[in-house]
Amino acid sequence: MSSPTQTSESQSPVAMERRVTRVEERGAASATEVLNSTAAKIDVRELNFYYGRAQALYDISLSIAPRGVVALIGPSGCGKSTFLRTLNRMNDTIPGTRVEGSVMMDGRDIYAPGTDVVELQRKVGMVFQKSNPFPKSIFDNVAYGLRINRMTRNKTELQDRVEQALEDAALWPEVKDRLKTSALGLSGGQQQRLCIARALAVRPEVLLMDEPASALDPMATQKIEELIVALKEQYTLVIVTHNMQQAARVSTQTAFFWLGKLIEVNTTEKIFTAPAEKLTEDYITGRFG
Ligand code: ADP
Repeated sequence: MSSPTQTSESQSPVAMERRVTRVEERGAASATEVLNSTAAKIDVRELNFYYGRAQALYDISLSIAPRGVVALIGPSGCGKSTFLRTLNRMNDTIPGTRVEGSVMMDGRDIYAPGTDVVELQRKVGMVFQKSNPFPKSIFDNVAYGLRINRMTRNKTELQDRVEQALEDAALWPEVKDRLKTSALGLSGGQQQRLCIARALAVRPEVLLMDEPASALDPMATQKIEELIVALKEQYTLVIVTHNMQQAARVSTQTAFFWLGKLIEVNTTEKIFTAPAEKLTEDYITGRFG
């Protein structure tokens, strides 16, 4: 099995360095521009992850481009959620876990000593399989992160940011007249969009979604999928899904995991039409899973 990596020739560090060096000869400002235009949002290198003595991820290397959707697919227990949680250090709270390798975000290792994990988790938000609104009003749910992080200067600004987040999560028209009512009175699909609004309110750059629609009915699922497609214009999204049609519909890139290894990553079209690895083909054609 070949060592899976998404780094194409044009994105490889060597190629990038060469390109930057060439541009540097013309001037430092343009070198920066070129670097920015080609840089990955998240660059994972040789990542191993352990729960105690049990290794859950093996030597994962994966570059994630800004603004797009990466779908993580693979059978249950293959490490998709674990990998997702390494991207914002959510696993840190699980005792006995250990990470090796690097996860660079915008060129900085998020595991470097001194990293502000609270700020990291603001930048890299998370939406879970089961929506988890707080037993508070719709408004207070979305305002929560803004308040605890003191991100607004006054009431008007707070209201504007809450409205904007609800708009961005495609929920505003459905809740604008009931902002003070309990979030727990919303339908399952609305609650999930509320959680997305709550994540968006603090202006993240990356959104991690762990099977965000798997507990929802088809109509609510469709709304979440439409939202994901809209959000990718502005955000970098990484989504775990066991639903292959969903991966095909919403993602730009797909990464196939198996037994803690990244078997193959490519554009979604390529993975679903001409996968390089037989294992990927067997999985997407339903031969196991
Ligand atoms: P997936 O998301 O693909 O279903 P997971 O990342 O949840 O896979 O799990 C990968 C492996 O790590 C599995 O063997 C699972 O049992 C193990 N695992 C997941 N979470 C924990 C945990 N909190 N403690 C110990 N082992 C865990």
